[in-house]
Amino acid sequence: MCGIIGYIGNKNAVPILMEGLKRLEYRGYDSSGIGLINRKKLSVHKKEGKISVLEKTLSKTIHGKSGIAHTRWATHGQVNDINAHPQVSANGRIAVVHNGIIDNYSSLKSRLTSEGFKFQSETDTEVIAHLLQKYYTGDPEEAVQKALAQLDGTYGLIILFLDHPDILIGARNGSPLVVGVGEKEMLLASDVNALIAHTRQVFYVEDRETVLITKDSYKTVNMNNSVVSKQIEKIEWEMAEFEKGDFNHFMLKEIFEQPEVIRRSYGGGGRLLPGFGTAKLGGLNIEKSEYFDIDNIVTMGMGTAYYAAMIGAYLLENMARIPTVAEQSSELRYRNTIVRKGTLFFAVSQSGETLDTLTAMREIQNRGGRVLGICNSVGSTIARESDGGVYIHAGPEIAVASTKAFISQVSVFFLLALMLGRMRDIPTSAGKQYISELTAIPDKISEILEKADELKTLANKYKHYKNILFLSRGINYPVALEGALKLKEISYIHAEGFSAGDIKHGPIALVNEETPSLFIVTKGETFDKLLGNMEEIKARKGKVIAISNSEDNRIKDLSDDFFLIPESHEMVSPLLTVIPLQLFAYYIADALGKDVDQPRNLAKTVTVE
Ligand code: GLU
Repeated sequence: MCGIIGYIGNKNAVPILMEGLKRLEYRGYDSSGIGLINRKKLSVHKKEGKISVLEKTLSKTIHGKSGIAHTRWATHGQVNDINAHPQVSANGRIAVVHNGIIDNYSSLKSRLTSEGFKFQSETDTEVIAHLLQKYYTGDPEEAVQKALAQLDGTYGLIILFLDHPDILIGARNGSPLVVGVGEKEMLLASDVNALIAHTRQVFYVEDRETVLITKDSYKTVNMNNSVVSKQIEKIEWEMAEFEKGDFNHFMLKEIFEQPEVIRRSYGGGGRLLPGFGTAKLGGLNIEKSEYFDIDNIVTMGMGTAYYAAMIGAYLLENMARIPTVAEQSSELRYRNTIVRKGTLFFAVSQSGETLDTLTAMREIQNRGGRVLGICNSVGSTIARESDGGVYIHAGPEIAVASTKAFISQVSVFFLLALMLGRMRDIPTSAGKQYISELTAIPDKISEILEKADELKTLANKYKHYKNILFLSRGINYPVALEGALKLKEISYIHAEGFSAGDIKHGPIALVNEETPSLFIVTKGETFDKLLGNMEEIKARKGKVIAISNSEDNRIKDLSDDFFLIPESHEMVSPLLTVIPLQLFAYYIADALGKDVDQPRNLAKTVTVE
């Protein structure tokens, strides 16, 4: 799930690989390792724990002009030094780093064991190293092709052959792999972050392709061994976007970037047609007239992206009047989903590599359906394989807990709903009103951010509670789910989001003095109902925190703590209501001394199903 990087060139690979690993660190991992060829020797160094632990064990003198490195997120076998990668063939001449899961590893392992191969680790990856040894008779490409033919499952691989110090071989099936083309040096990595300090010229390896690199050449082949030609792309992201700057954590930096990120989501105005009160989105690959053929829409994602997809569904129904449902990709994928001509699907994924969403997308496409992507990472797999889509342009999101990508996804759905709505029911004047509501959002977010200290105080007051409920209704119901997810992800406090209307049907049994409820209460359709729900909590001695854009005295009377946010149209309100929840979660986690940017057990890009 985590990261791989390989280097070949004239420089010492060690600092380049270690720096690359640090740039992959944000994805979450439990151990790391590095393999090098130097003076006809293959050396491997690997350690459980943080990259800094590995770094301490590396002597200053280690060197190599080619090498591979890995951060592991264990799937098979405990977290320990032996199971860390690289995994090495029995004869010690081939080393492999692997992201993914080999589904048929246990049958391969039994076969290889009966053939005399001795296994050192409990990983699924080790079978690859032994298979490569088994098939290697002098031609590394042939060995790789034969070994890969045996594997079922997902992999991003980089392989080092002691007998061929001038090459690295990479292969991909389901886990991302990108090649960085430099000046007399070449890199391979699971993520552009890892190589961007060395080159901005990249190309992507597709599933079932293998790539062989030397310091000044590359060759990609498919499973039939036919050469595939590659288009080199330039990465535009700035290096500063990968740095923390003056902030203590990437998460806080990313929260504070949100005014700018919202502006970028509407292209600084480039995606808006203010005169017509509508939006224009290039890249959807749909003829205008085809929009009239859409009977219904399905939005899908996982985790935070799923909550953005829920808000997207709400917006599309409410503004565009098209029946829309949101689905978790992992459920949709295996549910024998109905795919029809008039159904349009949206796949939402920050990284564009989320495997649950990618496999759901492929399933729909294989059934003849049309899927549009809403992604952040340019050139990612979902972005490339979807039938069209919209980039959210949030810039690199490094903290594992998503913040700025979420509001950009919501903003893009708002643009889509406005565009489709204007083709149907929304008149010009209302369209113009929607645009001015959206373009007012960045300044309103800034107003909330200026009051961050109030949320810090609130966080300190509530940090010792063991359970916290997040409640709202309507378009802000998914925001309540997102607020609860944010808190549990980074502080490990048990938090649950519910629709406030549903609590009396069960969850209210949880309410007592020890379980506070955070309410999002915005003016609109469900305002009065929410006040009623707050009463229900108060009557059961539950503490109430209210986040509201209304100064109605009834809210203040019903809440123990109250945080005021700027007013807005209900349809853009999630772009504001989520900000205090992100800060609340952040300040609690920080006050509890948690590893905010890399919470336990989590990975940024989830490339396993
Ligand atoms: N399945 C492999 C292991 O458990 C690779 C995990 C990863 O992607 O980091 O070692």
